Amino acid sequence: MGNFIEIQKNIDCEPCKECGARPVIEQTKGGFMVRCPQNKSHYKTKPGLVNIEDWNIKNKALPPLGNNQNPQKAS
Ligand SMILES: [Zn+2]
Repeated sequence: MGNFIEIQKNIDCEPCKECGARPVIEQTKGGFMVRCPQNKSHYKTKPGLVNIEDWNIKNKALPPLGNNQNPQKAS
């Protein structure tokens, strides 16, 4: 396992949509990636700044059929 950085508990992040794991931050030469701790083939963000927002978008449980223009809060 690489050196993963735990994301603080008070930060809201979606679990991995593949396996339900809480994401971690991995430090690479290119920067930080938000990724699944279980499997490197699961979604990870591009190296750079920590981008939990991007992770959350990609791991949202309910896919609105590619329509990102009209975000709706599911209740
Ligand atoms: Zn996963």
